[in-house]
Amino acid sequence: MKKKSIIIIGGGLAGLSAGCYALMNGYDVQIFEHAAIPGGVCTSWKTGNYMIDGCIHWLVGRKPGLSVYETYKELGIVDAARFLPVKSYINFMDAKTGNTFELTADYETVKNRLIAIAPEDKGTIEKFLHACMVLSDLQIPTGTSTQKKSITEKISGLWQQGKLLRYFFRYNMSLKEYVKKFKNPWIRDIIVNLFLPDMTTLFSLLMLGYLFHDQLGMVEGGSLRFALPIEKRFKKLGGRITYGATVGKILVDRDSAGGVRLADGSEHKADIVISAADLHATLYDMLDGKYVNKRFEHMFKSWKMFTPLMLVSFGVKGEIKRYPPVNVFFLKDPFQIGTTPVDHLLVRDYGYDKVMNPGDKTVVQVEMETEYDYWMDLRKNEEAYYKGKDAVAHKVLDKLEEFYPGIKAKVEMIDVATPYTFFRYTRNYRGAFEGWIMTGESLKNPVPKTLEGLKNFYLTGQWVEPGGGVPIAVASGRRVIKKVCADDKKEFVTKSRA
Ligand SMILES: Cc1cc2nc3c(=O)[nH]c(=O)nc-3n(C[C@H](O)[C@H](O)[C@H](O)COP(=O)(O)OP(=O)(O)OC[C@H]3O[C@@H](n4cnc5c(N)ncnc54)[C@H](O)[C@@H]3O)c2cc1C
Repeated sequence: MKKKSIIIIGGGLAGLSAGCYALMNGYDVQIFEHAAIPGGVCTSWKTGNYMIDGCIHWLVGRKPGLSVYETYKELGIVDAARFLPVKSYINFMDAKTGNTFELTADYETVKNRLIAIAPEDKGTIEKFLHACMVLSDLQIPTGTSTQKKSITEKISGLWQQGKLLRYFFRYNMSLKEYVKKFKNPWIRDIIVNLFLPDMTTLFSLLMLGYLFHDQLGMVEGGSLRFALPIEKRFKKLGGRITYGATVGKILVDRDSAGGVRLADGSEHKADIVISAADLHATLYDMLDGKYVNKRFEHMFKSWKMFTPLMLVSFGVKGEIKRYPPVNVFFLKDPFQIGTTPVDHLLVRDYGYDKVMNPGDKTVVQVEMETEYDYWMDLRKNEEAYYKGKDAVAHKVLDKLEEFYPGIKAKVEMIDVATPYTFFRYTRNYRGAFEGWIMTGESLKNPVPKTLEGLKNFYLTGQWVEPGGGVPIAVASGRRVIKKVCADDKKEFVTKSRA
């Protein structure tokens, strides 16, 4: 019997993952990817003699115990990539007050140190840390639970859910709202910067829980090493992937998706189309807005997206002062990029990874939120754009000198990525590199994975899983194929049938 065919738009982690599971389940698969390499935003690249990482700070599921680790195994990542343990989540330093705090993976040390900083907040600190441990029992939903449960297991499951619901209601508010519970200003600065201030507190509780359970990792050698093994597995299973292939339109006949038209005008037919690309472009450009309902209109009008980023990376030759892998440095004198004030820098110090940059070379990278429109406007004039990038890089380097004395003289490479760069390579809407912020509303209202009125079409990836993230993207690719199989009345398998 002829295999059913699937076209996947986008070869980021979700598209690659969906591609692998579709092949395992007997479909014929073609991926069209806009960029020249796989992985989407999960990437690293070489500038001059330096390897720069553009993604993973903390990878959830670095070892057995979480179901998503099994997904990494099924996709061939575990055998090919090395996950280094995260011993330090964020190191905070305030240049104005001299305050410091390193949030390590040692639960007791963190608890004692926080209480020593703010005895007046002891009760709130204890409750917060306890919630981390309870919530980190939660699995990333990968769709792995196929076994039948006994009655006692079901009752215990419901009880667990009830307990979790209590935490859900208590902490399902933004970090910036939640920190008001703390009296001590230094503790407030720390907690609100655990992740994005608008993101639900539940997310940070989960991340810290995984940290204390030694489930957070970093990918040795750079984030691209996470994506390449999936592409390898995809090809080995018989999948086809075409790079530099931008999908312009999804072909629809009588409300049924039947293929795609690329920007070069070529048309490609398939029985099923899955978009693992940007949601806005999928709905409004590729489908001409025909399947946008009130739900999607509301999301694009009122949901918050990740604020676009600038990544300013410095290649340093020779010895410098060393810091943990991720730092938040509060500045003595804030500055501005466009109209956005910058009062702290998120600094990634790659000294821990000698595979990425061997010998006496290393990269120090600064990550800052910035405005999409500012950079898109500048981009209209190439000279102004490059001048703008250069000015920010030198401003940032001046600031780094406070924390890394002598670094300026040792910098031999500067690489600046703006929101335009993110858009150019990955097409994410308005440079929102991780899709929607996870909020109370988005948690309660899951994004549909199919479109009302359109047959043979599915959505996957970070734009249909608010909060985004590496494990979420790969799990989303797995789940969409489980749904395709269910719609085709086929059993879902995770090993090649061939
Ligand atoms: C700086 C940064 C740091 C991060 N840190 C972490 C972290 O520490 N931990 C973590 O878990 N996650 C992190 N993430 C998030 C995580 O990397 C993403 O959520 C995840 O990789 C998204 O995968 P995706 O496949 O859903 O989307 P994408 O990676 O955006 O993939 C979509 C793909 O579709 C392609 N595409 C788009 N339009 C078209 C078209 N018209 N035709 C063809 N192809 C198209 C794009 O080129 C892209 O390859 C980080 C991301 C960034 C940028």
